[in-house]
Amino acid sequence: MQEKLLKKNYTKMVNKKTTIPWQSEEAWIQVVLSIDKTIAALSTQGAEITRIRTLAQQIAQGYAELETILEEVCLKSCPTCVDVCCSRATVWYDLKDLLLIYLNTGTLPDRQIYKQPDHSCCNLTPSGCRLLRSERPFICTWYICPDQKNVIEGLPDSEEKLALFRTIEKSTIDKIKTARKELEEEYVEAICS
Ligand code: SF4
Ligand code: SF4
Repeated sequence: MQEKLLKKNYTKMVNKKTTIPWQSEEAWIQVVLSIDKTIAALSTQGAEITRIRTLAQQIAQGYAELETILEEVCLKSCPTCVDVCCSRATVWYDLKDLLLIYLNTGTLPDRQIYKQPDHSCCNLTPSGCRLLRSERPFICTWYICPDQKNVIEGLPDSEEKLALFRTIEKSTIDKIKTARKELEEEYVEAICS
């Protein structure tokens, strides 16, 4: 019975995939309920949920490692930017984002990300993004714009620091990407097996 419920909820989620999933209020409520129910059901089953939760914690740790570096780069580039990416980019939460947010906080956002009438992201404020990094879609962390790349390249410190900077940034983002993929695969396997 429980397995049927898990499969049904997952099928609903993947069937809702369009260009941007879960845009309507009804679709959003459905995906929130599905994640809530499937994680609750998996939590009674032991091993699978332990692996899934461990991956979510590892990803949260990766975000924490990136925070200082990315904030430093952002402070040197975003306040003077004349073409703010968040005022034109189309971003949305995918299943990996929602699983991570739910597993690490126990809650989910009120709705899918949408554009304001001026086409800017609904989370953009005059002082930047209103969300914590861990609450944003991963693309918002993964994307390093050309100006920011220039900032990284132009750091005045020693070559050693620059090399370290590059290594930490790249390896951590790559590690997060791999762990996110694994998290989704483990979740799908757990609810479909
Ligand atoms: S990330 Fe780059 S494009 Fe986006 S606001 Fe900052 S400097 Fe501008
Ligand atoms: S969620 Fe935040 S960082 Fe991402 S596009 Fe929107 S305002 Fe920018």
